Amino acid sequence: RGFQNVGLVIGVTGIVGDSLAEILPLSDTPGGPWKVYGVARRPRPDWNADHPVEYTQCDISDSEDALAKLSPLTDVTHVFYVTWTNRATEIENCEANGTMLRNVLRALIPNAPNLRHICLQTGGKHYIGPFEAFGKIKPHDPPYHEDLPRLDAPNFYYTLEDILFEECEKKDDLTWSVHRPVIIFGFSPYSMMNILGTLCIYAAICKHEGIPLKFPGSKAAWDCYSDASDADLIAEQQIWATVDPYARNEAFNITNGDLFKWKHLWKVLAEQFDMEYAEFEEGEEKQSMVEMMKDKGPVWEEIVREKELLPTKLEDVAQWWFIDLVLGGESLLNCMNKSKEHGFLGFRNSRNSFVWWIDKMRGHKLIPP
Ligand code: NDP
Repeated sequence: RGFQNVGLVIGVTGIVGDSLAEILPLSDTPGGPWKVYGVARRPRPDWNADHPVEYTQCDISDSEDALAKLSPLTDVTHVFYVTWTNRATEIENCEANGTMLRNVLRALIPNAPNLRHICLQTGGKHYIGPFEAFGKIKPHDPPYHEDLPRLDAPNFYYTLEDILFEECEKKDDLTWSVHRPVIIFGFSPYSMMNILGTLCIYAAICKHEGIPLKFPGSKAAWDCYSDASDADLIAEQQIWATVDPYARNEAFNITNGDLFKWKHLWKVLAEQFDMEYAEFEEGEEKQSMVEMMKDKGPVWEEIVREKELLPTKLEDVAQWWFIDLVLGGESLLNCMNKSKEHGFLGFRNSRNSFVWWIDKMRGHKLIPP
Protein backbone atom coordinates (compact mmCIF):
# COMPACT_ATOMS: atom_id res chain seq x y z
CA ARG A 1 0.00 0.00 0.00
CA GLY A 2 1.43 3.31 -1.12
CA PHE A 3 4.76 1.83 -2.18
CA GLN A 4 6.25 3.01 -5.44
CA ASN A 5 8.74 0.15 -5.74
CA VAL A 6 9.34 -3.23 -4.16
CA GLY A 7 12.94 -4.41 -3.78
CA LEU A 8 14.14 -7.94 -3.14
CA VAL A 9 17.65 -8.12 -1.69
CA ILE A 10 19.22 -11.54 -2.18
CA GLY A 11 21.98 -11.74 0.44
CA VAL A 12 20.45 -9.16 2.79
CA THR A 13 22.86 -9.86 5.67
CA GLY A 14 25.96 -9.58 3.49
CA ILE A 15 28.38 -6.69 3.31
CA VAL A 16 26.33 -4.75 0.71
CA GLY A 17 23.02 -6.48 1.48
CA ASP A 18 23.01 -4.93 4.96
CA SER A 19 23.61 -1.47 3.46
CA LEU A 20 20.75 -1.95 0.98
CA ALA A 21 18.51 -3.09 3.86
CA GLU A 22 19.35 0.09 5.73
CA ILE A 23 19.17 2.59 2.84
CA LEU A 24 16.28 1.32 0.70
CA PRO A 25 13.53 1.87 3.31
CA LEU A 26 14.63 5.45 4.14
CA SER A 27 12.07 8.12 3.26
CA ASP A 28 14.40 10.08 0.94
CA THR A 29 15.83 7.14 -1.02
CA PRO A 30 15.42 7.54 -4.80
CA GLY A 31 12.53 5.47 -6.18
CA GLY A 32 10.91 5.34 -2.74
CA PRO A 33 8.91 4.68 -0.77
CA TRP A 34 10.35 1.20 -1.11
CA LYS A 35 8.90 -1.96 0.32
CA VAL A 36 11.83 -4.32 0.91
CA TYR A 37 12.12 -8.10 1.08
CA GLY A 38 15.39 -9.66 2.18
CA VAL A 39 16.71 -13.19 1.74
CA ALA A 40 19.52 -15.16 3.40
CA ARG A 41 19.93 -18.71 4.74
CA ARG A 42 20.63 -18.15 8.44
CA PRO A 43 18.09 -16.81 10.94
CA ARG A 44 18.01 -13.04 10.99
CA PRO A 45 20.79 -11.64 13.22
CA ASP A 46 20.04 -8.86 15.72
CA TRP A 47 22.34 -6.37 13.97
CA ASN A 48 20.17 -6.59 10.85
CA ALA A 49 16.81 -6.73 12.58
CA ASP A 50 16.18 -2.97 12.94
CA HIS A 51 15.83 -2.46 9.19
CA PRO A 52 12.18 -2.46 8.07
CA VAL A 53 12.61 -5.45 5.77
CA GLU A 54 10.44 -8.56 5.39
CA TYR A 55 13.00 -11.27 6.04
CA THR A 56 12.84 -14.71 4.45
CA GLN A 57 15.17 -17.60 5.23
CA CYS A 58 15.80 -19.36 1.96
CA ASP A 59 18.64 -21.30 0.39
CA ILE A 60 18.69 -20.13 -3.21
CA SER A 61 21.04 -22.96 -4.21
CA ASP A 62 18.07 -25.28 -3.61
CA SER A 63 15.65 -24.84 -6.52
CA GLU A 64 12.64 -26.12 -4.56
CA ASP A 65 13.30 -23.85 -1.60
CA ALA A 66 13.80 -20.88 -3.94
CA LEU A 67 10.57 -21.60 -5.80
CA ALA A 68 8.57 -22.13 -2.60
CA LYS A 69 9.84 -18.99 -0.83
CA LEU A 70 10.30 -16.53 -3.72
CA SER A 71 7.41 -17.28 -6.09
CA PRO A 72 4.85 -15.83 -3.59
CA LEU A 73 6.65 -12.44 -3.72
CA THR A 74 4.52 -11.37 -6.68
CA ASP A 75 4.82 -7.62 -6.07
CA VAL A 76 8.64 -7.44 -6.52
CA THR A 77 9.71 -4.74 -9.00
CA HIS A 78 13.50 -4.77 -8.50
CA VAL A 79 16.04 -7.42 -7.53
CA PHE A 80 19.37 -6.63 -5.87
CA TYR A 81 21.55 -9.71 -6.26
CA VAL A 82 24.37 -9.37 -3.70
CA THR A 83 25.36 -12.91 -2.88
CA TRP A 84 27.70 -15.68 -4.06
CA THR A 85 29.21 -19.00 -3.10
CA ASN A 86 32.85 -20.05 -3.11
CA ARG A 87 33.82 -23.51 -4.40
CA ALA A 88 37.15 -25.27 -4.87
CA THR A 89 37.58 -24.41 -8.56
CA GLU A 90 36.30 -21.67 -10.83
CA ILE A 91 34.53 -24.22 -13.03
CA GLU A 92 32.59 -25.30 -9.93
CA ASN A 93 32.00 -21.64 -9.05
CA CYS A 94 30.46 -21.05 -12.48
CA GLU A 95 28.14 -24.01 -11.99
CA ALA A 96 27.13 -23.27 -8.39
CA ASN A 97 26.72 -19.50 -8.73
CA GLY A 98 24.91 -19.88 -12.05
CA THR A 99 22.44 -22.28 -10.44
CA MET A 100 21.76 -19.85 -7.58
CA LEU A 101 20.94 -16.95 -9.91
CA ARG A 102 18.84 -19.16 -12.20
CA ASN A 103 16.84 -20.45 -9.23
CA VAL A 104 16.01 -16.88 -8.18
CA LEU A 105 15.03 -15.75 -11.68
CA ARG A 106 12.97 -18.86 -12.39
CA ALA A 107 10.98 -18.32 -9.20
CA LEU A 108 10.40 -14.63 -9.86
CA ILE A 109 10.09 -13.90 -13.56
CA PRO A 110 6.94 -15.96 -14.22
CA ASN A 111 5.30 -14.84 -10.96
CA ALA A 112 6.19 -11.16 -10.49
CA PRO A 113 4.47 -9.37 -13.39
CA ASN A 114 5.83 -5.93 -12.42
CA LEU A 115 9.48 -7.03 -12.25
CA ARG A 116 11.40 -4.31 -14.10
CA HIS A 117 15.08 -4.36 -13.20
CA ILE A 118 17.78 -6.62 -11.81
CA CYS A 119 21.00 -5.26 -10.25
CA LEU A 120 23.79 -7.84 -10.26
CA GLN A 121 26.86 -7.27 -8.13
CA THR A 122 30.05 -8.85 -9.41
CA GLY A 123 33.47 -7.21 -8.94
CA GLY A 124 36.93 -6.25 -10.08
CA LYS A 125 37.88 -9.89 -10.72
CA HIS A 126 35.96 -9.37 -13.96
CA TYR A 127 39.19 -7.75 -15.21
CA ILE A 128 41.88 -9.80 -13.49
CA GLY A 129 40.32 -13.26 -13.38
CA PRO A 130 39.29 -15.42 -10.42
CA PHE A 131 41.48 -15.95 -7.35
CA GLU A 132 42.82 -19.26 -8.71
CA ALA A 133 44.05 -17.52 -11.88
CA PHE A 134 46.02 -14.76 -10.07
CA GLY A 135 49.48 -14.63 -11.60
CA LYS A 136 48.59 -17.25 -14.21
CA ILE A 137 46.72 -15.27 -16.84
CA LYS A 138 47.79 -11.95 -18.25
CA PRO A 139 45.31 -9.34 -17.04
CA HIS A 140 44.53 -6.15 -18.95
CA ASP A 141 46.56 -3.05 -18.31
CA PRO A 142 44.94 -1.02 -15.47
CA PRO A 143 43.10 1.24 -14.83
CA TYR A 144 40.26 -1.06 -15.78
CA HIS A 145 37.23 0.25 -17.62
CA GLU A 146 33.96 -1.48 -18.40
CA ASP A 147 34.53 -1.81 -22.15
CA LEU A 148 37.55 -4.10 -21.86
CA PRO A 149 36.99 -7.52 -23.44
CA ARG A 150 36.53 -10.54 -21.18
CA LEU A 151 39.60 -12.56 -20.29
CA ASP A 152 39.97 -16.01 -21.77
CA ALA A 153 39.46 -17.97 -18.52
CA PRO A 154 36.44 -19.33 -16.65
CA ASN A 155 34.93 -16.69 -14.40
CA PHE A 156 31.66 -17.01 -12.52
CA TYR A 157 31.02 -13.30 -13.05
CA TYR A 158 30.76 -13.97 -16.80
CA THR A 159 28.38 -16.88 -16.15
CA LEU A 160 26.16 -14.65 -13.99
CA GLU A 161 26.14 -11.88 -16.60
CA ASP A 162 25.24 -14.28 -19.38
CA ILE A 163 22.32 -15.74 -17.43
CA LEU A 164 21.12 -12.23 -16.62
CA PHE A 165 21.36 -11.02 -20.22
CA GLU A 166 19.56 -14.13 -21.48
CA GLU A 167 16.67 -13.84 -19.02
CA CYS A 168 16.21 -10.09 -19.51
CA GLU A 169 16.24 -10.55 -23.27
CA LYS A 170 13.23 -12.86 -22.98
CA LYS A 171 10.97 -10.43 -21.15
CA ASP A 172 9.90 -7.04 -22.48
CA ASP A 173 10.72 -4.13 -20.20
CA LEU A 174 12.99 -6.17 -17.93
CA THR A 175 16.36 -4.39 -17.65
CA TRP A 176 19.63 -5.09 -15.86
CA SER A 177 22.69 -3.37 -14.47
CA VAL A 178 25.98 -4.89 -13.34
CA HIS A 179 27.99 -3.34 -10.48
CA ARG A 180 31.70 -4.06 -10.09
CA PRO A 181 33.22 -3.01 -6.75
CA VAL A 182 36.80 -3.68 -5.64
CA ILE A 183 37.58 -4.61 -2.00
CA ILE A 184 34.61 -3.53 0.06
CA PHE A 185 34.77 -1.50 3.27
CA GLY A 186 31.66 -2.50 5.17
CA PHE A 187 30.35 -4.03 8.31
CA SER A 188 28.69 -7.44 8.02
CA PRO A 189 30.06 -10.23 10.25
CA TYR A 190 28.19 -12.65 7.95
CA SER A 191 30.24 -11.66 4.90
CA MET A 192 32.50 -14.20 3.24
CA MET A 193 35.03 -11.42 2.49
CA ASN A 194 35.22 -8.57 4.98
CA ILE A 195 38.71 -7.10 4.87
CA LEU A 196 38.07 -4.43 7.47
CA GLY A 197 36.41 -6.75 9.97
CA THR A 198 39.29 -9.17 9.60
CA LEU A 199 41.95 -6.46 10.02
CA CYS A 200 40.20 -5.16 13.16
CA ILE A 201 40.24 -8.66 14.65
CA TYR A 202 43.93 -8.94 13.77
CA ALA A 203 44.59 -5.61 15.52
CA ALA A 204 42.58 -6.67 18.58
CA ILE A 205 44.56 -9.91 18.84
CA CYS A 206 47.94 -8.11 18.45
CA LYS A 207 46.93 -5.62 21.13
CA HIS A 208 45.75 -8.36 23.47
CA GLU A 209 49.10 -10.13 23.05
CA GLY A 210 51.07 -6.89 23.46
CA ILE A 211 52.76 -7.00 20.05
CA PRO A 212 52.98 -4.13 17.57
CA LEU A 213 50.63 -4.09 14.61
CA LYS A 214 52.73 -5.49 11.80
CA PHE A 215 51.65 -5.17 8.17
CA PRO A 216 51.05 -8.71 6.92
CA GLY A 217 51.23 -7.81 3.22
CA SER A 218 53.85 -7.23 0.58
CA LYS A 219 56.04 -4.18 -0.01
CA ALA A 220 54.05 -3.52 -3.19
CA ALA A 221 50.74 -3.41 -1.27
CA TRP A 222 52.25 -1.19 1.46
CA ASP A 223 53.56 1.40 -1.01
CA CYS A 224 51.26 1.36 -4.02
CA TYR A 225 48.08 3.33 -4.64
CA SER A 226 44.98 1.26 -3.82
CA ASP A 227 41.27 1.77 -4.23
CA ALA A 228 38.32 0.47 -2.24
CA SER A 229 34.52 0.50 -2.40
CA ASP A 230 32.36 1.67 0.49
CA ALA A 231 29.39 -0.70 1.02
CA ASP A 232 26.86 2.16 1.33
CA LEU A 233 28.23 3.77 -1.84
CA ILE A 234 27.77 0.50 -3.76
CA ALA A 235 24.18 0.33 -2.50
CA GLU A 236 23.67 3.96 -3.60
CA GLN A 237 24.93 3.17 -7.11
CA GLN A 238 22.61 0.18 -7.37
CA ILE A 239 19.63 2.26 -6.24
CA TRP A 240 20.58 4.99 -8.74
CA ALA A 241 20.63 2.34 -11.47
CA THR A 242 17.05 1.35 -10.65
CA VAL A 243 15.73 4.88 -11.24
CA ASP A 244 17.96 6.42 -13.93
CA PRO A 245 17.17 5.35 -17.51
CA TYR A 246 20.82 5.99 -18.51
CA ALA A 247 21.89 3.14 -16.25
CA ARG A 248 19.73 0.50 -17.92
CA ASN A 249 21.50 -2.48 -19.47
CA GLU A 250 24.94 -1.21 -18.53
CA ALA A 251 27.84 -2.42 -16.37
CA PHE A 252 29.54 0.02 -13.99
CA ASN A 253 32.65 -0.01 -11.87
CA ILE A 254 32.07 1.27 -8.36
CA THR A 255 34.95 2.54 -6.24
CA ASN A 256 35.21 5.39 -3.75
CA GLY A 257 36.76 7.65 -6.39
CA ASP A 258 39.92 8.42 -4.42
CA LEU A 259 43.19 6.59 -3.80
CA PHE A 260 44.99 5.58 -0.64
CA LYS A 261 48.10 3.73 0.40
CA TRP A 262 47.96 0.89 2.91
CA LYS A 263 50.91 2.41 4.79
CA HIS A 264 48.67 5.39 5.58
CA LEU A 265 45.60 3.35 6.52
CA TRP A 266 47.80 1.14 8.67
CA LYS A 267 48.56 4.13 10.85
CA VAL A 268 44.84 4.88 11.08
CA LEU A 269 44.12 1.28 12.09
CA ALA A 270 46.76 1.47 14.84
CA GLU A 271 45.31 4.79 16.07
CA GLN A 272 41.85 3.27 16.19
CA PHE A 273 43.14 0.55 18.50
CA ASP A 274 45.43 2.90 20.40
CA MET A 275 48.49 0.80 19.71
CA GLU A 276 51.95 0.89 18.14
CA TYR A 277 52.38 -0.17 14.56
CA ALA A 278 55.44 -1.48 12.77
CA GLU A 279 56.65 0.07 9.51
CA PHE A 280 57.06 -2.37 6.66
CA GLU A 281 60.65 -3.55 6.78
CA GLU A 282 62.63 -3.79 3.60
CA GLY A 283 63.82 -7.33 2.85
CA GLU A 284 61.41 -8.94 5.26
CA GLU A 285 59.47 -11.91 3.95
CA LYS A 286 55.74 -11.54 3.58
CA GLN A 287 53.96 -13.42 6.33
CA SER A 288 50.97 -15.64 5.67
CA MET A 289 48.00 -14.58 7.79
CA VAL A 290 46.46 -18.02 7.43
CA GLU A 291 49.60 -19.46 8.98
CA MET A 292 50.06 -16.74 11.63
CA MET A 293 46.49 -16.82 12.89
CA LYS A 294 45.72 -20.53 12.74
CA ASP A 295 45.89 -21.07 16.51
CA LYS A 296 44.28 -17.81 17.62
CA GLY A 297 40.72 -19.07 18.10
CA PRO A 298 41.07 -19.30 21.92
CA VAL A 299 42.68 -15.83 22.06
CA TRP A 300 39.69 -14.35 20.23
CA GLU A 301 37.34 -16.22 22.60
CA GLU A 302 39.14 -14.63 25.53
CA ILE A 303 38.86 -11.13 23.98
CA VAL A 304 35.15 -11.67 23.29
CA ARG A 305 34.60 -12.73 26.91
CA GLU A 306 36.73 -10.02 28.48
CA LYS A 307 35.31 -7.17 26.39
CA GLU A 308 31.75 -8.53 26.47
CA LEU A 309 31.48 -8.63 22.69
CA LEU A 310 28.79 -10.30 20.61
CA PRO A 311 29.76 -14.00 20.74
CA THR A 312 31.49 -14.94 17.48
CA LYS A 313 33.90 -17.65 16.41
CA LEU A 314 37.16 -16.58 14.84
CA GLU A 315 36.72 -18.87 11.83
CA ASP A 316 33.31 -17.30 11.10
CA VAL A 317 34.32 -13.65 11.26
CA ALA A 318 37.94 -13.51 10.05
CA GLN A 319 38.97 -14.40 6.52
CA TRP A 320 42.77 -14.59 6.73
CA TRP A 321 43.02 -16.06 3.20
CA PHE A 322 41.40 -12.90 1.86
CA ILE A 323 43.97 -10.65 3.55
CA ASP A 324 46.78 -12.81 2.12
CA LEU A 325 45.34 -12.33 -1.35
CA VAL A 326 44.43 -8.64 -1.17
CA LEU A 327 47.59 -7.48 0.56
CA GLY A 328 49.80 -9.96 -1.26
CA GLY A 329 50.46 -7.84 -4.32
CA GLU A 330 49.99 -4.52 -5.95
CA SER A 331 46.47 -3.11 -6.20
CA LEU A 332 45.18 -2.76 -9.76
CA LEU A 333 43.06 0.35 -10.09
CA ASN A 334 39.61 0.69 -11.62
CA CYS A 335 38.24 3.67 -13.49
CA MET A 336 35.04 5.50 -12.46
CA ASN A 337 34.59 7.60 -15.62
CA LYS A 338 31.72 5.60 -17.09
CA SER A 339 29.66 5.74 -13.92
CA LYS A 340 30.16 9.52 -13.69
CA GLU A 341 29.47 10.05 -17.38
CA HIS A 342 26.17 8.22 -16.97
CA GLY A 343 25.17 10.39 -14.04
CA PHE A 344 26.24 8.67 -10.80
CA LEU A 345 28.48 11.16 -8.99
CA GLY A 346 28.64 9.49 -5.58
CA PHE A 347 32.02 9.16 -3.87
CA ARG A 348 33.58 8.46 -0.48
CA ASN A 349 36.70 9.58 1.32
CA SER A 350 38.35 6.16 1.83
CA ARG A 351 40.02 7.12 5.08
CA ASN A 352 36.72 8.33 6.53
CA SER A 353 34.94 5.25 5.18
CA PHE A 354 37.55 3.04 6.92
CA VAL A 355 36.92 4.75 10.26
CA TRP A 356 33.14 4.90 9.78
CA TRP A 357 32.83 1.11 9.46
CA ILE A 358 35.18 0.51 12.40
CA ASP A 359 32.88 2.72 14.49
CA LYS A 360 29.85 0.79 13.30
CA MET A 361 31.45 -2.56 14.20
CA ARG A 362 32.24 -1.14 17.64
CA GLY A 363 28.68 0.13 18.01
CA HIS A 364 27.43 -3.41 17.46
CA LYS A 365 30.04 -4.87 19.84
CA LEU A 366 31.71 -6.93 17.14
CA ILE A 367 35.19 -5.63 17.98
CA PRO A 368 36.64 -4.26 21.23
CA PRO A 369 36.08 -0.60 22.19
P1 NDP B 1 28.65 -11.44 1.32
O1 NDP B 1 29.54 -12.63 1.43
O2 NDP B 1 29.01 -10.25 2.13
O3 NDP B 1 27.15 -11.83 1.67
C1 NDP B 1 26.53 -12.95 1.16
C2 NDP B 1 25.06 -12.90 1.57
O4 NDP B 1 24.34 -13.91 0.88
C3 NDP B 1 24.81 -13.17 3.05
O5 NDP B 1 23.65 -12.46 3.43
C4 NDP B 1 24.54 -14.66 3.09
O6 NDP B 1 23.83 -15.00 4.26
C5 NDP B 1 23.73 -14.81 1.80
N1 NDP B 1 23.79 -16.13 1.16
C6 NDP B 1 24.90 -16.87 0.89
N2 NDP B 1 24.56 -18.02 0.29
C7 NDP B 1 23.20 -18.01 0.18
C8 NDP B 1 22.26 -18.95 -0.33
N3 NDP B 1 22.63 -20.12 -0.84
N4 NDP B 1 20.95 -18.63 -0.27
C9 NDP B 1 20.55 -17.45 0.25
N5 NDP B 1 21.40 -16.53 0.75
C10 NDP B 1 22.72 -16.81 0.71
O7 NDP B 1 28.51 -11.02 -0.22
P2 NDP B 1 29.37 -9.94 -1.04
O8 NDP B 1 28.61 -8.66 -1.12
O9 NDP B 1 30.78 -9.91 -0.56
O10 NDP B 1 29.38 -10.67 -2.45
C11 NDP B 1 28.51 -10.36 -3.53
C12 NDP B 1 29.39 -10.26 -4.77
O11 NDP B 1 30.31 -9.19 -4.59
C13 NDP B 1 30.23 -11.53 -5.03
O12 NDP B 1 30.21 -11.84 -6.39
C14 NDP B 1 31.63 -11.09 -4.60
O13 NDP B 1 32.63 -11.80 -5.32
C15 NDP B 1 31.61 -9.61 -5.00
N6 NDP B 1 32.65 -8.79 -4.37
C16 NDP B 1 32.85 -8.77 -3.02
C17 NDP B 1 33.87 -8.04 -2.46
C18 NDP B 1 34.12 -7.97 -0.97
O14 NDP B 1 35.12 -7.32 -0.55
N7 NDP B 1 33.29 -8.57 -0.15
C19 NDP B 1 34.80 -7.26 -3.33
C20 NDP B 1 34.44 -7.25 -4.72
C21 NDP B 1 33.43 -8.03 -5.22
P3 NDP B 1 23.74 -16.55 4.75
O15 NDP B 1 25.16 -17.04 4.80
O16 NDP B 1 23.07 -16.50 6.08
O17 NDP B 1 22.94 -17.26 3.71
